[in-house]
Amino acid sequence: MPVTPVSATQKVTLLSHTPEPERAVAAAGRLCYSSSTAAELRERMTDAEVERLIDILVGSGHHSALEHASFTFGIDGISRACSHQLVRHRLASYSQQSQRYVRFDGEGGFIVPPKIAADPEAAAVFEQAMDAARQAYERLVELGGERGLEKETVQEDARFVLPNAAETRIVMTMNARELRHFIRIRSCRRAQWEINALAWRVRYLLLRTAPLLFQKSGPDCLFGKCQEGKRMFCGKVYKPEEVEEIEAEWAGDQ
Ligand SMILES: Cc1cc2nc3c(=O)[nH]c(=O)nc-3n(C[C@H](O)[C@H](O)[C@H](O)COP(=O)(O)OP(=O)(O)OC[C@H]3O[C@@H](n4cnc5c(N)ncnc54)[C@H](O)[C@@H]3O)c2cc1C
Repeated sequence: MPVTPVSATQKVTLLSHTPEPERAVAAAGRLCYSSSTAAELRERMTDAEVERLIDILVGSGHHSALEHASFTFGIDGISRACSHQLVRHRLASYSQQSQRYVRFDGEGGFIVPPKIAADPEAAAVFEQAMDAARQAYERLVELGGERGLEKETVQEDARFVLPNAAETRIVMTMNARELRHFIRIRSCRRAQWEINALAWRVRYLLLRTAPLLFQKSGPDCLFGKCQEGKRMFCGKVYKPEEVEEIEAEWAGDQ
């Protein structure tokens, strides 16, 4: 049974984004205080003006202008548990691989939590459960076929026995404002490990594409405060060196 840890399965690709996203945001922000048109501003603003304006927008909390830049990611090799958490972020668009139209076959794997993978006894229990789920799924598909039912009907019912660990793919489009929010709360250590890894990967790609827009993005503790309050504070503030290590680990994947 292919059970693979997150570092090996999770793949995040920045597929496309608003052309010149930082200029688009800066022109929109500048329009609020100018008699010129957005098209003129977009054409005319120097790089230094774009930089200065984005610094002001990000720093002052005038974040609605950030909504004019969108980014589309292909996200592969995550669990349904993770994708379910992801789609709770409502200010985004998603297209997810269907379990109704796409058969969960031998190619499709299960995402194994690293702590379970590292514990032989727990890993054995996990593997047994995944095997049982896969066998039940395959038998239900087989039975549906024997009964002459349509493939989609059979698959849409058989998928009920698949676990949260079932691997999935999803395309996500988010604007820069929502991305900053997503990264802020999901790169926090209190977020679940898989979506936490996803948030750091998304941040990694964005910082290399639009560094001004995503300056100071990350968990609050990286910038000296914790969003969780005293009671929920995890006690492990992210240090810049740790962030560098995380990034170095993923740099090879891109
Ligand atoms: C550590 C952690 C633990 C969690 N545990 C649970 C849990 O146990 N159970 C659970 O159900 N969920 C849980 N969640 C998910 C969480 O409750 C949110 O659903 C998820 O993080 C999406 O973020 P968001 O609510 O900020 O909304 P987003 O959809 O990302 O929206 C962004 C922002 O837009 C605004 N907004 C969006 N929609 C509305 C609206 N309808 N009305 C007003 N303002 C709006 C809000 O300011 C919001 O913060 C958890 C999340 C984290 C990070």
